[in-house]
Amino acid sequence: MSKLSVVLPAYNEELMVGKTCRVLAEVLTKAKIPYELVVVNDGSGDRTWEEIQKAGERDANVTGVLFSRNFGKEAAIFAGLAQACGNVVAVMDCDLQHPPQTLIEMYRLWQEGYEVIEGVKADRGKEGFLHKECAGFFYDIMSKATKVNMKDASDFKMMDRKAVDSILSMPERNMFFRATSSWVGYKTTSVEFEVQEREAGVSKWSPWSLVKYAFTNIVAFTTFPLQFVTITGAICFICSLVLMVYSLVQYFTGSAVEGYTTLLMVLLLVGSAMMISLGIIGYYISKIYEEVKRRPRYIISKVIKNGNIQD
Ligand code: UDP
Ligand code: MG
Repeated sequence: MSKLSVVLPAYNEELMVGKTCRVLAEVLTKAKIPYELVVVNDGSGDRTWEEIQKAGERDANVTGVLFSRNFGKEAAIFAGLAQACGNVVAVMDCDLQHPPQTLIEMYRLWQEGYEVIEGVKADRGKEGFLHKECAGFFYDIMSKATKVNMKDASDFKMMDRKAVDSILSMPERNMFFRATSSWVGYKTTSVEFEVQEREAGVSKWSPWSLVKYAFTNIVAFTTFPLQFVTITGAICFICSLVLMVYSLVQYFTGSAVEGYTTLLMVLLLVGSAMMISLGIIGYYISKIYEEVKRRPRYIISKVIKNGNIQD
């Protein structure tokens, strides 16, 4: 049987990481799937690394990667993919919210010849109404822009070595894993899973970080906001044409002075439209700047492999 690598990004998961490794080892051993767990410690401030070390001592199939600081989940996933050596690689959260049993189903589908197996949320769990609506809106934009259905997408997936190598060959720094894994193509299918309750620890997402996440990924993956700038510009232009005609008529009928309110409103409106547009363009430029700097996506400080620490 072919080896399965499971990539697990971990940030402040001291309460979960040990258990997750144990449960995965148990489930995969029982299913007779040769495995490797690649746990990437994304600069945690707690005892996550110690827990990963312990897991590595218990089980030689656990590989640990330590980042020099927090680089974010996407970077952690990428580092895990680069480290993984299996013929097939899965990515999942390390808080057991993605059910390990689903891995077996995904593995069977891979054996049947599918090259990308997407985990799709059967139900968005206990997320609030506003969160669900905003997530729905965000994935609508992303689906339209990428022409891939991303509704209820998650980072839980399994990929053939070919797809992993394609993702690793992509040079951009701002990676949006959910979209990238569909973007590379290949024979794809999906598996529904129930989002489990988090047993311990806390979610790393605040409302503000979700907004930032959404905006970064829209900018990294689409040019829709730039089109929005053009459309706003066009609307403003049409409005100003109407107003120009109106004020000309006022001028020729001799009642020109009272236009103060209109003038003020137009100034404010056009001014704010321009500020928004400049902001959006500025955001793209900052992303381009990040890309041209060619900085590494992440910095690795230590690796544990086969129970040995490599500095
Ligand atoms: N995570 C990470 N780096 C970060 C934030 C999160 O590696 O900066 C990991 C985290 O440890 C977990 C996964 O990403 O394994 C999902 O995070 P979380 O459970 O907080 O998100 P939620 O399930 O609430 O969407
Ligand atoms: Mg979680």
